[in-house]
Amino acid sequence: VHPTAVRRPNYITVQSENTVYTDDHITAKYFNRGADVVVSDGQFTILPTAKPYEFQTTRKVGKTGLMMIGLGGNNGSTLCATIIANRHQMAWHTKEGIQQPNYIGSVLRASTVRIGTEPSTGKEVHVPISDVLPMVHPNDLVLGGWDISGLPMDKAMERAKVLDYDLQRQVKPHMALLGRPLPSIYYPDFIAANQEARADNVHIRADIRRFKSENQLDRVVVFWTANTERYSDIIPGVNDTADNILAAIKNSHSEVSPSTLFAVAAILEGEPFVNGAPQNTFVPGVIALAEREKSFIGGDDLKSGQTKLKSVLAEFLVNAGIKPLSIASYNHLGNNDGHNLSAEPQFKSKEISKSSVVDDMVDANRLLYKPPVLGATGKAAKGEHPDHIVVIKYVPAVGDSKRAIDEYYSEIFCGGRQTINIFNECEVWDTFLICHQMLNALLTRVKYRGEGQTDFAPLHAVLSLLSYMCKAPLVTDVVNSLGRQRNALESFLKACIGLEGNSDLLLETRIW
Ligand code: NAD
Repeated sequence: VHPTAVRRPNYITVQSENTVYTDDHITAKYFNRGADVVVSDGQFTILPTAKPYEFQTTRKVGKTGLMMIGLGGNNGSTLCATIIANRHQMAWHTKEGIQQPNYIGSVLRASTVRIGTEPSTGKEVHVPISDVLPMVHPNDLVLGGWDISGLPMDKAMERAKVLDYDLQRQVKPHMALLGRPLPSIYYPDFIAANQEARADNVHIRADIRRFKSENQLDRVVVFWTANTERYSDIIPGVNDTADNILAAIKNSHSEVSPSTLFAVAAILEGEPFVNGAPQNTFVPGVIALAEREKSFIGGDDLKSGQTKLKSVLAEFLVNAGIKPLSIASYNHLGNNDGHNLSAEPQFKSKEISKSSVVDDMVDANRLLYKPPVLGATGKAAKGEHPDHIVVIKYVPAVGDSKRAIDEYYSEIFCGGRQTINIFNECEVWDTFLICHQMLNALLTRVKYRGEGQTDFAPLHAVLSLLSYMCKAPLVTDVVNSLGRQRNALESFLKACIGLEGNSDLLLETRIW
């Protein structure tokens, strides 16, 4: 078994009066340390703060289902096939030799965290991130979902043309057992008209409930990995409040997208919903409904290749004091996703999602970029920003191989210029998707209470910790830096077992 797929028994115990283990829970006290900044007459007064919290995590992982919308697509079918390959330990022949299944590329299965130092040697000790708290193993996910195409799952895998033939051959009978995706909701107005040929398969809360009871599941994660829809218009009285969106659905209002219908169904069923595509599924009424129902939502748009790199490179440049003047990104891909994105309204959704990723880094450095200034009307004009363009073209020949070319053109010392060019090619990014499911299922098992609160409460309905995996994170204050998103994830998991932040101070290595 590849190390990324190994199951390890519970071997991490924190011995501290702040961390209590019972059969059912891990309860940990944690101080959230920060600083309040008071600005007055150009003077900054900084007041360090330490707010006490307690986290309580249910130890039993529970049986978890994953229902994907777009099950028969490239992501959906590839994710199912690779989980099956791992579950049954299927090795396959490639031109390089024998390939073992694994979860390389999954931040939660294949990365580690520094948990402390070994006292006698002073060496840092790292453990798999998935071992910090009990999490569902992807091999155990019960798989199902919907598609507008009723092609059986073994055939859908063949249609995707992603996996090696020898793996497809072995996985095929297991994929056939998954049968056909459940019939979905198809409104031609929302995905590109060129998708109509696939729509031979057009009641959702009942499906979730049935899937849950038939498979005796504790939790079902509902996950939009279907085609990118156009943006929905935000219409007062229709999708702006929780009650209005429920009424709009009842009246079959034409501006409610299929993805919003799925999100609302999951929220009302109390199951977490993740949006893996860029459209604005989470219109204000949906967010309000999730908050009211205390049901979890997360998104938007999976962050896999080019955008992940951009959120690293842009941060590196700006934090190094270098000023990106322009970022130009060209993508071409030849799969069905690319076909759908070749239509203008769907491309617009992707463009918005891909374009926002440097905004917070620019905002954080007003030495390099001029801040917004108040115009004559009293309205703040947009602050200075690098030119940022995103082009996506459909090139059928390259199939599922997604190619991205990025140019970063920056200003350096005393008028100098610097250019970085990146060529990025990615095929099966799909193991990334698994992260959402595991984290999601975990976050529903964590509760917290602040000072003076008697009862533990669930986390906020908007799962902002999924930011690491999303191009356009659904949060109040967006953080796009990949490093900061990763730190947040790591710090949160450690906080749940009573360990304070992941300081890189490493004081012991800096003093005598
Ligand atoms: P795909 O076209 O192969 O699969 C999408 C599937 O969704 C198709 O089978 C289609 O029939 C189905 N579908 C469309 N509308 C539906 C509806 N209303 N209900 C149910 N099913 C519906 O695309 P893909 O490559 O699997 O990508 C899926 C989504 O993930 C796209 O929106 C894409 O932009 C997004 N995404 C993918 C990646 C990646 O690296 N693969 C990264 C970021 C985002």
